[in-house]
Amino acid sequence: MRIQYLGTGAAEGIPAAFCNCSFCRKARSEGEVRTRAQILLDGELSIDFPPDAFFHAVKFGADLSAIRYLLVTHAHMDHFYAHDFVLRGYKYARDMTAPSLTVYGNAETHEVFRESTVREMKEDVEAGIRFVEVSPFEEISFGDWRVWTLRARHSSRDPLLFLIERGGKRVLHLCDTGALTQESEAYLAELGGPPYKLVTLDCTFLYGKTEPSSRHMGLDENARTLEKLARIGLVNGRTKKVITHFSHNASPSRELLSQAEREYGVIAAYDGMQLEI
Ligand SMILES: [Zn+2]
Ligand SMILES: [Zn+2]
Ligand SMILES: [Zn+2]
Repeated sequence: MRIQYLGTGAAEGIPAAFCNCSFCRKARSEGEVRTRAQILLDGELSIDFPPDAFFHAVKFGADLSAIRYLLVTHAHMDHFYAHDFVLRGYKYARDMTAPSLTVYGNAETHEVFRESTVREMKEDVEAGIRFVEVSPFEEISFGDWRVWTLRARHSSRDPLLFLIERGGKRVLHLCDTGALTQESEAYLAELGGPPYKLVTLDCTFLYGKTEPSSRHMGLDENARTLEKLARIGLVNGRTKKVITHFSHNASPSRELLSQAEREYGVIAAYDGMQLEI
């Protein structure tokens, strides 16, 4: 499975659009950019579709028309910019790689999809996009992919996390969430299965302190989460542990991220990073 981290920033991106803090000023002058969250699996499955998807196509040559399946974690603007979908077809897009797209998201994400596209959606375009509502703790399958949804600890309605499987390889997506909820942990334990090849972890706070009720994680919570998963045999020494969703407030400089990699045994994602598992 080929995994590409197209966007690795938090909602406001780096440098943050309206920010003049010292970290953002330095990032702006040095061209150190982190766009909003999007991960592409085997070129055809995307997790989230941010306002920067257009830029991901420009910068990394991602073929957005090849995305057949889109899993949306939640309706926050940095994870789901639905306006762009009015351009998926008609005179706006020719020779698309995949003629149709299925979007899997919760009811709130579906509302945002309707609100964002109601004014400009052409019938031809609408015919190529199907929205399937999913809730936490469901199993879904499409093509040769299997996906289980979990509930995130996050500030939106029914926020989702995903366990994804293809060809017997499993990857766990834990982004835009605080500590794993007990019900999500129990659900994963119940599912069992082979140890995960890769876990993606929300690391918005990096070295900053978090509370048990926090809606994002930092390195210490990442470590606790990995320990819990290791105890139930789902993570081991061969599992790649990738941290992402970095915020300017945590000053995620290259030096600090290298330190985090050494101290916590994780891989710090950057925009465009590709991994093969
Ligand atoms: Zn986010
Ligand atoms: Zn800033
Ligand atoms: Zn969010």
